[in-house]
Amino acid sequence: MRVFNFSSGPAKLPEEVLQQASEEMLSWHGRGYSIMETSHRSPEFTAIIEETEQLLRSLLGIPSGYSVLLLQGGAHLQFAMVPLNLLGPKTNADYVLTGIWSEKAAEEARRFCNVNVAADNAASDRTAVPAQAALRLDPAAAYVHYCSNETINGLEFPYVPATGDVPLVADMSSHFLSRPLDVSRYGVIYAGAQKNFGPAGLTLVIVRNDLVGRCSPRWPTMLDYRTYAEAHSMYNTPPTYSVYIANLVLKWLAAQGGVEGIERANAAKAKLLYDAIDASGFYSNRIEKAARSRMNVPFSLADAGLDGAFLQEAGERGLVQLKGHRLVGGMRASIYNAMPLEGVQALVEFMQDFERRHG
Ligand SMILES: *Cc1c(COP(=O)(O)O)cnc(C)c1O
Repeated sequence: MRVFNFSSGPAKLPEEVLQQASEEMLSWHGRGYSIMETSHRSPEFTAIIEETEQLLRSLLGIPSGYSVLLLQGGAHLQFAMVPLNLLGPKTNADYVLTGIWSEKAAEEARRFCNVNVAADNAASDRTAVPAQAALRLDPAAAYVHYCSNETINGLEFPYVPATGDVPLVADMSSHFLSRPLDVSRYGVIYAGAQKNFGPAGLTLVIVRNDLVGRCSPRWPTMLDYRTYAEAHSMYNTPPTYSVYIANLVLKWLAAQGGVEGIERANAAKAKLLYDAIDASGFYSNRIEKAARSRMNVPFSLADAGLDGAFLQEAGERGLVQLKGHRLVGGMRASIYNAMPLEGVQALVEFMQDFERRHG
């Protein structure tokens, strides 16, 4: 039996995608073998990876001056690849700190450059995003890095920082493809696939072409964006099965009305859940309203002693993986693209019922 799965990542995939993948598991398009059992250079897989890039380009309106790279190593490897590829002769980079992921990115960058903390929302206990006017940007920085959706804290930027001529870099791992995006505002966008795009093992990088080719020849070939750009992500064996699933996810997304259609669905889901939290005296979410994430909704119960009972009873009703991150505690419902409205409705009904019985 399928349940409503609120995992923060690796996360729920659309059921239609899993269904098709299971039908094609033993014999892909009548070949008698799975797509993961063939060469990445085969015409079949080459067509899949090329189509995946085209789908991304059309769904997000990615301008032609940008390369779309499919690689591995997760967002964590991008924490290092961004400075290695973008610093060039510069020695400083700006980092906006808003939570656990942007802090980790800055920590890694400190191995390679001076990190200027352009803003740090620790004073608000990570409950608000810094305003544009509060960003202390260094005009000589090689780039400005921020995390546009802090998965653990449940904090999403309601605006795109303006950084002048300094390239803007965003870790979009947990809300990539959840809404339309003006790619031209960015130098680099990166995302691990396992939140909203596909299975783990695949990482997406969208990079403006003038930022490709700055990596020092001292660094490994596999850490240079140019390697992937020139070889169309086929320098070595890509994670073929993850690319195939991501391809199916993009076709599913197109059938939902693309990023515009999914944004409407995501906004409705988030509103339903936040309204229920705000209307209750029992559940609370600490994030400033304008900065609340549509994808990751952390909430706490008035009595943390009831957390165990909440998780137990939710599980019995087929509402699973709601335990909050260990650093934040409480609960967290991740309601990515693949979570249907019915899942959020079922969660809200359960929350109200639990409050009546225990509140
Ligand atoms: C999940 C996540 C990461 C970590 O991704 P890995 O693929 O495990 O490296 C980094 N940043 C954000 C915003 C995330 O949600």
